[in-house]
Amino acid sequence: MFESHTAVIIIGSGSAGLTAALYAARANLSPLVFEGKEPGGQLTLTTEVDNFPGFPEGIKGPELMDLFRKQAQRFGADCKWETVFEVDLSNRPFRVRTTDDPSGDPSSGTLRDYTCDGLIVATGASARWLGMEGPYRGNGVSTCATCDGHFYRGKAIAVVGGGDSAAEEAVFLTRFASKVTLIHRRDALRASKIMQDRLKKNPKVDYAWNSTVDEIYGESLDGQQVLTGVKLRSTKDATVRDLKIDGLFLAIGHVPNTSIFQGQLAMTPEGYILTRTALAWQGVEAAAGLIETLPNYGTATNVEGVFACGDVVDTHYRQAITAAGSGCAAAIDCEKWLESTAAGSGHP
Ligand code: NAP
Repeated sequence: MFESHTAVIIIGSGSAGLTAALYAARANLSPLVFEGKEPGGQLTLTTEVDNFPGFPEGIKGPELMDLFRKQAQRFGADCKWETVFEVDLSNRPFRVRTTDDPSGDPSSGTLRDYTCDGLIVATGASARWLGMEGPYRGNGVSTCATCDGHFYRGKAIAVVGGGDSAAEEAVFLTRFASKVTLIHRRDALRASKIMQDRLKKNPKVDYAWNSTVDEIYGESLDGQQVLTGVKLRSTKDATVRDLKIDGLFLAIGHVPNTSIFQGQLAMTPEGYILTRTALAWQGVEAAAGLIETLPNYGTATNVEGVFACGDVVDTHYRQAITAAGSGCAAAIDCEKWLESTAAGSGHP
């Protein structure tokens, strides 16, 4: 077991975590960044990013995150491909335990212990599953069009969801598939107008409106289960129909990655970490009196010295640029807090 201490640890390496790393590094804090199971975060699972300022022609998600990482490293951020599986926030210095197993499994890989004075949580969110995938999870049913789209060349597939991700994935998948059916539980998409226009213009996209997936089925081929279709239930009249497809992609939102902080950090019932900024958003509720107990920084959590940023907090904007902005804020907050504690004045 390895032990080391650093002023600031950042958990997560998406646009929030790596921006926090850049700012903390430039403040001479030599932050340690644990990149986790998905180094680079959600943007590494996307194709073109057209709305990140500074890239007028767009940029590929993985390429953008490589640039984020290189920029943070240039100023001294130490990025490690380790996944934090346990934290102890009951005392300072905070304790963090990691594994270097690529899947984040603490029962394998080398385990290491670290301590830090200030902790920035930027663990993001992971794709939501329907919960009925059975043997087809990762084998016919995918949450990553970029990763798995090429398996479906010339095949019929479907995408579930009505948001920007579903629209983006459906359009991307038409590069490979013969037909893409967009399955949505309502009759109107929540995707932005520009994404809806792209869908409409694409002749390979078909729609299953007012429909939910009732069952995912397949057949055994050479001892392996192969997905062959789904049963769709109408949300209007509950009738069920078959849709024959070879692959199903889910784009039904994300769940925050906060299981390791349960019982230690204040959260919403859905598991989003509560900060001062989050409490300013409409619809985010917290236990009475919580806001009065939070240290006086926008990204402060209920544990002094722990700051949170990006999608792990955000129930509201969920954009790469807002995550990056909140990562910057968390690093500045953490730096100011460290300064104030070093000066012996406690939190403001
Ligand atoms: P989202 O906007 O939350 O959309 C999730 C979609 O999945 C909704 O249409 C929802 O239906 C549906 N859904 C949720 N749970 C479901 C279930 N159990 N069964 C069936 N359908 C379900 O998520 P997102 O598309 O991942 O986008 C998240 C954020 O990232 C948004 O702010 C979006 O603008 C942003 N984003 C932007 C871009 C871009 O600008 N290029 C690309 C991707 C994402 P309802 O509509 O009925 O609720």
